This record gives sequence, C-alpha cells and structure tokens, in this order.
Amino acid sequence: MRKTGLSTNMEHPKKYFILGLLSICFLQLKNKVMAQSDVKNPFQKIKSIPPALQTLPFYAVQPSGWLKMELQKNLNGFTGHLDSLVPDLILNDAIYGAKRLSKQVKSKNLGAISAEGDWQVQFLWWNSETQCNWLDGYIRTAILLNNKKHIAKAGKIVDALLATQDKDGYLGIYDPELRYKFDNENGELWAKTTLLRAILGWYEYKKDPQVLIAIERAVDNVMKAYPIDQSSPFHTINPNAGGLTHGLAFTDVLEQLAKITRKNQYIDYCLFLYKDFSKQVINEDAQYAKLIDPSISLMGHGVHTYEHFRSVLAAYYASGNPEMKNALTNFLRKIENVTTASGGPVSDEFIGGRKGNGLLGYEFCSLHELMIGWIDLLEKSADNQYAEKAEHIFFNAALGNTHPTESAICYLKQDNSFQLTGGNNGDTTDKHQTRYRYSPVHKEAAVCCIPNAGRIVPYFIQNMWMKDGQGLVAALLGPSILNTSLSNTPVSITETTEYPFENIFAFQIAAKSPIRFTLKIRKPQWAIAVKSSLPFKEVNGFLVFDQVWNQSSKLVIDFTSEISKKFTVDKEVYFQNGPLVLCHEIIASQQITKSYTIAGLHESTYQAIQPISYQYSNGQYTPKPNNCCSVWMTNPISGKQELLVLKPLARTILRQVSFKTIP
Ligand SMILES: [Zn+2]
Repeated sequence: MRKTGLSTNMEHPKKYFILGLLSICFLQLKNKVMAQSDVKNPFQKIKSIPPALQTLPFYAVQPSGWLKMELQKNLNGFTGHLDSLVPDLILNDAIYGAKRLSKQVKSKNLGAISAEGDWQVQFLWWNSETQCNWLDGYIRTAILLNNKKHIAKAGKIVDALLATQDKDGYLGIYDPELRYKFDNENGELWAKTTLLRAILGWYEYKKDPQVLIAIERAVDNVMKAYPIDQSSPFHTINPNAGGLTHGLAFTDVLEQLAKITRKNQYIDYCLFLYKDFSKQVINEDAQYAKLIDPSISLMGHGVHTYEHFRSVLAAYYASGNPEMKNALTNFLRKIENVTTASGGPVSDEFIGGRKGNGLLGYEFCSLHELMIGWIDLLEKSADNQYAEKAEHIFFNAALGNTHPTESAICYLKQDNSFQLTGGNNGDTTDKHQTRYRYSPVHKEAAVCCIPNAGRIVPYFIQNMWMKDGQGLVAALLGPSILNTSLSNTPVSITETTEYPFENIFAFQIAAKSPIRFTLKIRKPQWAIAVKSSLPFKEVNGFLVFDQVWNQSSKLVIDFTSEISKKFTVDKEVYFQNGPLVLCHEIIASQQITKSYTIAGLHESTYQAIQPISYQYSNGQYTPKPNNCCSVWMTNPISGKQELLVLKPLARTILRQVSFKTIP
C-alpha cells in the first residue's frame, strides 16, 4: 500500500525503474491536461449536495451468521494478534508519542526489505499506517463481537494515543521542528487519517464527549496550520510522494466528523484539499485535470487511485459543481476499464495503463479501498448499482483472496490463480516478490494488507443498513442485527440468511410500539423474480414496504437467480450465479513455509497438481446445486472437450475464473 517514492527507492530496483517510466508518462501528459483545467473553475462551490442516504453510527448494525464467524476468525488470527506478530512496527514504535519523528531520528525499522536510499526522516511514516489501520480494524472487530477483553485492550491503546495530543491540539507523528513544514514526501495528513478513522470508530461506540473534543481539536489544528485557500498541504518538489498523497484520504475523517457534528466547515475543507491536490505536479490519477481527459488511462499506484475516488466524491458533493461531476463520471469509466470479473481492480502495486484481466494482480488494500468507495457513492446517490458493486468486490474478490480456513490472505492475487508461490503465477523474475502467497503478516512486502483485511469485514457490516427520509434501507444484504430508532421509537431488525450463498431472507422487525415507516430492501440487479410474504412496490431498484410495524412483524423474501454468461473487459467469458462469480477450482498442494507461535498461523504457498488454462467454445452450461454450474470447456493440451463444474470463487485458493473464447 505504501510502495511509492521512498519505498520504491528503498526496495526493489525493478519497481523503481517502472516508476521512472510512469513519471515520464505523467509529465508528458501534464502540459496537455493543465491547459484544459484552466477553462472553467471546477472547484467553485455552487451548492453542496446532501447525501441521499444516511449511514448509521458504527455499532448500530451487528453481524450474525457467517459474517460473525468471519470476524471471529480474524480476531482469533491476524487481527487479534498483529501487534505481537510485528512488535517492532506496532508495540515498540510509539511514533505518535515518545518516538515522534524529529531531525534526530536517523533510521527506523519499517518491516520491509530496505536498502540505502536518498531519504529524509520525514519519509518514515510507514509504521503509523500499519499501527492505525490495524487499530481501526481491531477496534471495530472487538466491538462488533462484543469481546470484553479486546475492547478493554483497544480502549487502553486509544487512551494512550489521545494522551499524546499536544496543548495546541496536534496529534501526529512529527515533532514541532518538522510538522507542517514540508516540500517533499511526508506522512503528516496520512498518519492523522489512519489514527482519526480508528478513534472515530471508538467514539461512535463509547459516545465519550472528551474523545470527540480531542478529534475536533486535532482536525482544527490541521485547518489552522494549513488554512483554506492560503496554504498548500500537497506541495512537493518530488512528484512521487506516496505518503503525502495518501493524505488526501483525510477527507474520510472530515466527512465523518461533519456527519457527527453537522459542521459544514469540514465539508468545505474536503473541497480545498482536493483543489490543492489537483494543483500539484504529482503522479496521481485522481487529479482533476487527468480525470476530465477520458484519453488518460489510470497509471498510478492502485491503492492511492482507489482511495482517492472517495475524495473526488467528497469534493463533488461538497461543491455541487457539474464540472466536478464530469470528472467523477470519467473516473467511474476508468475504474470500470481496470476491473476484473471478481470486482478486483488492477493494482499489483501500479495500474500502469493496463486493462483488467484475469492474470493481473490486485492488492488486498485496493479491494478494501474500492469497496468503501462504492459504499460511499451508494450513500451519496442511493443508486443501488453501487451497492451491487460493493457486494460484488466483497463476496468475490475479497472472499476469494482470503484463505478459506486459516487466518491469512494474499497481498496480491489474481482471478486466474494457477500458482501461489510468491511471483505472479509462478513468475520468478523478481526474486524479492513474495506477495502472491498466503501470510497473516506479509512483512517482507509491507504490513499494509493485513490491517486492511481486518477492516474490510467490519466496514461492510456497519454499512449494511442505512436510513432515508422515510425509514430504513437494507442496502447491503447479509446476516445482521440492526438496532436503531425512528421518531424516538426503538426498532430492531434481525436479518437471517446465508446470503450470498443462498438468496432467501427472513426479516424480524421489532418496534417498541407500533410505528409506520417504509422498509426498503435492495433488489439485486441479477434477481429475475421476487417472492415476498408482504405486499410491496418496486421503486428505483428497491422493494418498498410501507406499513405499520409492530413488536413482532415478519417478512420473508426470496430472490431467484440464474446462471449468466458474462464478459470481462478483455472479452474473456465468465459465469455468475446471482451475486457469486464462479470458477474452475484447481486442485493444489500446500507448502507451509513458516509457522508462527500463535496456533494456526502460517505462511504458505500453493502449487497446482495439474494447471490447465481451459478455453470456452460456446458450450452448454447447466445449473447444479450449491450455486454451481457445469460447462463444457476445451482442454488446450488434449484438444478435447471436458465437462467442468464451476463453483463460487469465494473461499477458493487456486482457480480459473475467466476463459479465452475459441471458435
Ligand atoms: Zn496492501
């Protein structure tokens, strides 16, 4: 996740070379796009647009069923233990406190393989991301599982971090001689982003006003140091400044704080940050002038591009400016072009102008960042296609990247995984490449994906239910329990389902006293028929139930799916059943390459017993039980047709998802 600038320099010469090429491409594009950006003022605020849906405070939605089991697996494994798995990066580096970065710091253990490089102390922000993205997932997981021991531990960590706040409100990783005085790579805003996202989650659970005051003071300290329209927080003399540009995600903190406090100044500051980010000479795809030119493909570091998507959304909704809407529309098209069948976007660190295909890797961090982007757009637009995209990436790419039984993920994985031995499908060109394999840490590459693997499940859960002006909206479907109130009447809804592995839902609605409101259940776009135990109207892709709900109302919904044949961006065929992308699972042998002292935690590689890339020649396909389907495929080695059974991609290790078509 943090493989630009310094990190590239410090690690793999090959990647540094690629970055150099990308820089040249970006700089060649710069003159062309800068000229276009001057035509109108896209950053002018016209009228901010309120979100169409309202998210609920963290902890209003709790998991049940398989989602709860997934969280428990994480808490028993990497999320519950990452601090002790990499104590040098988390426990022994008080980067926000006693070990803040100062001119006296000469080196820092950052986990990854490092080498001599042309760096400055302000570059050494990495451990702040590792610590706080881990903490964010850890806090949310502990709370959602109501695990008292882990909640108490999370509380102590939060208290210790809040105790580092200076009198002027500063919370961060730099001592006074460095802070806010940069003209190059730094982690000022990014370190605050990861920290404050975690603390906001804690505040929403604890509701302690002192915590909110501390967050506001920290944000106000930034806004004072970087005054709106009179400063340049993204200024850098080096166009490759990964920590600096990660800092645009500070809009996450600002938007959440605006929701809690209802203060518009935080929303306006989002627009300012995006404006300043767009002004700079930096190698980032999400700059306005690049977005409005549809001929410029996504080139940059994938995880930046996908997290910046939310900042562009924030800027558009803050400004209500149609010029910004054009940029957003183009961004959506560009992301579409790099997306694979599973929903994973190309991001084997860099996108590099490539289109999505089954053999290109996606980073786990990118899956989390893009999923949150889709949820953000759903919240702002109420357009149910974005709920579909969020579910798609989570149920397919993310669950297909997570080890089915062990607590481990791949840092990089592809839809068509024929080998997971370190390099992409067995590639050994880069001896340092270890990302395509399972680990609960991935310390050799960077400890970025594991923290985000601990965030993706709770973030999905907390956004399953939202509100609109009329009532409640089941936006993302799955087993959950909602506790909220409408017009001061407590309402709880228990959603019982095996979805996405089955498409039947039982909702138990319990209002403390009878109350009329609309209950909207998202109708998935793949549903070819709906059975419902109560009458409904279908409006804008939602089933709308408008009635009086009492203490034990019940609703059962059954969506019918069918097997559909689809095409990837590069015209390969894949199959989908309802929400689940299907694959040919390849039998593999596991080699455990390292075991940790915590029971069940391993690093491992997988080799196919018989890797064959099948081809499709318009053969028949037939539905089979358990979401499977049988399809006639051509074995290119024997030249013969074979009947393959395709199964859901979720929870597979080696597999082929997309198939070249042959006449
Ligand atoms: Zn990562």
